[in-house]
Amino acid sequence: MTEKLRTIEVDGMTLALRITRKRVKNINARLVDGELRVSAPSWVSRADVESAAAELARTLVRRERAREVNRRHDAFELARRVASRFPEPPAVNGAQFSTAQRSRWGSYSVRTGTIRLNAALRTMPAWVLEAVVAHELAHVSHPDHSKAFWRLLRRVCPETDRAQAFLEGVSWLGGAWGSLPPVERGLLGVASDDREPVGQLRLPWAGSSPGGGAERLERGSE
Ligand SMILES: [Zn+2]
Repeated sequence: MTEKLRTIEVDGMTLALRITRKRVKNINARLVDGELRVSAPSWVSRADVESAAAELARTLVRRERAREVNRRHDAFELARRVASRFPEPPAVNGAQFSTAQRSRWGSYSVRTGTIRLNAALRTMPAWVLEAVVAHELAHVSHPDHSKAFWRLLRRVCPETDRAQAFLEGVSWLGGAWGSLPPVERGLLGVASDDREPVGQLRLPWAGSSPGGGAERLERGSE
């Protein structure tokens, strides 16, 4: 019946972790107001409970996030709108954002007529999201990536190639992020804590030569 309180980091979020020893068979977890409540049998080691807790927390946080995204954004409406552009509109019975499919941008089930979209797409421009929906729906007529597939897709979604390139860039950055040196991360536009906004940079030659380096730098950053 021991109970200890500490914190746990999940997807960059900090959760309070409360572990309760109970007469249970498995390790269970619930997420309540930013607190992860874990119950575990007494014979499981503290280390094992904590590593299981981290795993369960990630699942719960992502599930909760998916609920929130779907509450706020109507993917179904978007999917129906995109489907209507097809010469033979595929059946769309449901569409939702998912936080479970990390490696894929979207999927469509012919059996159920439902589309699942990677929730990260919500943070990207709308035309990228629409292109992913169109891509999945085009697979109804062409399961492969044949010439006919691309022809149909470009017809219903003229932004296809641009979206494809955009997503390749996103994937690349996502994969490379952990190994990028801090300066290169800064160059890619992500402000670290100690970085001054470019508009406040005071370079030694600023003011002494109008139209010189500093001014060009400021103008270029707008
Ligand atoms: Zn495809």
